Amino acid sequence: MGTPRPDFDLVIIGAGVAGLSLAARIARSVQRFRVCVLDPKPRTVNPRSWCFWAPERHGLAHLVSARWRRWLISGADGDAAAGEVGALIYQHVRAADFQDAAFDAIAGRSGFSIEHGVRIGALEARDDHACAETGLGRIRARRIVDTRPGDPVAMARAPMLQLVSGAEVEADADVFDPDTAGLMTDMAGHFDGLRFVHLLPFSPRRALVEAVRFSTGSPDRAARDADLDAALQRLGFRDSWRVIRRERASLPLGPAIGGGSTGSIVRAPAGAGAMRAATGSALMRLQGWAEQSAAQLQHGRPITPPRGTPPLPARLERGFLARIARHPDAAPTLFLHLARSLPADVLARFLGGEGTLPDHLRIMAATTRRPARAPRRLVGAA
Ligand SMILES: Cc1cc2nc3c(=O)[nH]c(=O)nc-3n(C[C@H](O)[C@H](O)[C@H](O)COP(=O)(O)OP(=O)(O)OC[C@H]3O[C@@H](n4cnc5c(N)ncnc54)[C@H](O)[C@@H]3O)c2cc1C
Repeated sequence: MGTPRPDFDLVIIGAGVAGLSLAARIARSVQRFRVCVLDPKPRTVNPRSWCFWAPERHGLAHLVSARWRRWLISGADGDAAAGEVGALIYQHVRAADFQDAAFDAIAGRSGFSIEHGVRIGALEARDDHACAETGLGRIRARRIVDTRPGDPVAMARAPMLQLVSGAEVEADADVFDPDTAGLMTDMAGHFDGLRFVHLLPFSPRRALVEAVRFSTGSPDRAARDADLDAALQRLGFRDSWRVIRRERASLPLGPAIGGGSTGSIVRAPAGAGAMRAATGSALMRLQGWAEQSAAQLQHGRPITPPRGTPPLPARLERGFLARIARHPDAAPTLFLHLARSLPADVLARFLGGEGTLPDHLRIMAATTRRPARAPRRLVGAA
């Protein structure tokens, strides 16, 4: 008797950004394919928001809820640089809208299913298929793509963490400029890294305010929340604003973690290559990976993990992290210098992870001309 036909052509483990992007892209473009997405958590609405640099037109343009054509970078001492975006625009998509669109694409295709709240046990690679032990029983698939986050021990060894405490707030008066994104405002060196406020106004009264730390220290939640409270106080709302929702994150920054392939099983969490070393952003790179993976399937080729950052920009990004770790006091001056000295398009391409070779050489030249240390007192130093 021959081997029975696999239950699915593809099983995707993890219904996060990576898993949903891949499933939705295949649903839209690959014919006669059976896909099952499994996630151990119950289906919930993701309250987060995703920001990215992209041209006006792209695959998620219909989901964009805010676009900013001006940006601001400033230090806690009031020194500031502002500019206009060029071909790449800073944009925002609500995670809930992204999720809904992906679910709609998947639900509309026969042979596709998403199962939430399912226990995932061992995965096993065989010669021409793979098996997953699950709460629904043993599932056989031609391929399995596992997008679960990487090994927590390896993630804990990341050279730096990006710690975020954010709040979407609504003020009683017009206090925000909805055309200007505060990319890194109120920057200050801290004894264990760099602090700044990421300020995204959605309207004159509503904004997402994120207190961000690039930190070599521990992910202290209370300290993060204190940063956010201080940021809100500095914005001067006092009693005349409400918090609509809160968000927190701890993202490992640095080298890619946890990708690879074993036979018909591919490990493809965002941290395995899609996530940028210096910013943790991954949304647009995951869209590129999903599109490329769907094309590979259409041509009968196997899916591969997301490609990592090429060597030169990866070196540059690691260099920035190392400089922040070594000289946090000098980091605000360095970023302000880059914001002032680079043309708008070069800066946007670099921030968006789309820099060209000449861009990277230009940034390297600009950073090496900077003094290694600025004579500024560290905030929070003992
Ligand atoms: C707060 C925050 C803000 C971010 N902001 C941005 C941004 O503005 N722009 C940007 O481009 N990127 C941003 N990122 C980075 C990136 O886009 C996200 O981290 C993205 O969610 C990564 O996608 P993912 O599918 O790998 O992980 P996730 O979206 O976290 O999905 C992982 C999935 O795997 C499931 N899972 C977890 N454990 C298991 C398990 N044991 N078994 C089975 N399934 C499991 C989870 O339930 C989840 O559904 C941000 C990340 C965070 C955390």
